[in-house]
Amino acid sequence: MTNTIATTDEGEEFVKDITKMSVDFDRWYTDVVRKAELADYTPVRGSMVILPYGYALWENIQRAFDDMIKSSGHENWYCPLLIPEELLTKEEEHVQGFTPQVAWITEAAGGKLELRLAIRPTSETIIGALIRRYIQSHRDLPKLTNQWCNVVRWEMRTRLFLRTTEFLWQEGHTFHASADEAKQEVDLILGYYRDLAQDWLAMPVLAGMKSRSETFPGAVHTKSIEALMRDGLALQAGTSHYFGQNFSSAYDISFSNQRNQRELCYSTSWGISTRLIGGVIMAHGDDAGLILPPRIAPIQVAVVPIFRDAASRDLVEAFIETWRWAVEGERIRLRVDWSDDRPGEKFNRWELKGVPLRLEVGPRDVEARQVSLVDRLTRERRPVPAAGLAGRLRDELSSFQRDLYQRALDFRDQNTVEVSTLEELVAHFKERAGVVWAPWCESEECEARVSEATGGVHTRNFDPDAEAEGSCLVCGRPAKRRVAFARAY
Ligand SMILES: [Zn+2]
Repeated sequence: MTNTIATTDEGEEFVKDITKMSVDFDRWYTDVVRKAELADYTPVRGSMVILPYGYALWENIQRAFDDMIKSSGHENWYCPLLIPEELLTKEEEHVQGFTPQVAWITEAAGGKLELRLAIRPTSETIIGALIRRYIQSHRDLPKLTNQWCNVVRWEMRTRLFLRTTEFLWQEGHTFHASADEAKQEVDLILGYYRDLAQDWLAMPVLAGMKSRSETFPGAVHTKSIEALMRDGLALQAGTSHYFGQNFSSAYDISFSNQRNQRELCYSTSWGISTRLIGGVIMAHGDDAGLILPPRIAPIQVAVVPIFRDAASRDLVEAFIETWRWAVEGERIRLRVDWSDDRPGEKFNRWELKGVPLRLEVGPRDVEARQVSLVDRLTRERRPVPAAGLAGRLRDELSSFQRDLYQRALDFRDQNTVEVSTLEELVAHFKERAGVVWAPWCESEECEARVSEATGGVHTRNFDPDAEAEGSCLVCGRPAKRRVAFARAY
């Protein structure tokens, strides 16, 4: 995490080869992001450009999640980027949590501003101030809102997609008449995040409750999904917060209940960001580059025509045209690579970009009425008849999606252990990374001791409904939680 986003000079340096993952994971990551043309550095320190291939990936993630929340009655809207200081500072715990990262506008139109404006680090405060106009009675509840937008959190150390000063995300903000309903909302969204990660991104996650010290500033409780990357570090990939009445009392968000009495709302907020793209890269990639889950891959099948002269090119092209429409008709995202590069270069390019399936089509394939199919996971070449190709590709993509998830799950299983003492935990993290489960008394002191003893290993989350057995790994008092520890991004 010591990599900083370079200035223009360094940014223009061309990445020739990808550093091997086993040699230097951080460099491998940056090389893949840039060479696969997902994102790049810009002259703006700490800010990245998301390139079309990376943005297409984001759009597919966005669409999947947007469909989920729409199906349960959430509505998108858009609130201002700038937040007046007086609004930002109303909820004390919240403002303290964010102040170090807030960027301020102090001058505009050639003069100093009387009241400075914050660039939103998140929108609870402006939304709190706005939503009260639209909530009068219990009949206006629940209010289920979401916005897709950018936010700014000043970062000293940045990494493409994982930590940048400006990033894209969605922030849901909901308001309810009862605490139970708001807590159910938090769980509903946590379930969507888990499904998005597992069913779409093929990324197994631990879904659970964060410890008190890891709770979002101003929240009563925070739940998260946590994924394991191939370097053994965890990535917090989505969070869902229950605020109780904290924000409603700071911003006076109230409604008249059935007995005509004023009551404060219960609220939630939740978010996922372009950080998920970093998660996909690090959960699945290998030395050859990206491996993308078919359901979100901008291109699912790359076709590489192989020909020697104009005549064989025509032959191959005519053959591809006999099945291309049928494949696209199955809503399979297909790209035929007619560029001037040599076939070997094309193979490398589509492997680097993580396209799940590659079809090689040469004159001999045309003769045999077949294509040569290579999948990005096994990289084995096998002949597939052109007849019924569309259906076959559909099936291949589904099994690719399943296999990729299973591979990530196996990796997590192989990198998960259970310990009962601090000594065991420290010894583990001296040698390895991964997920370590341990019994814990739930005190912040014991959590801090683990962090000190390991140089930064923190709790990730725990199942709030599970019974804990044994005694706390640090203090030996009866354990209240079985919690996951990991080093994290
Ligand atoms: Zn303890």
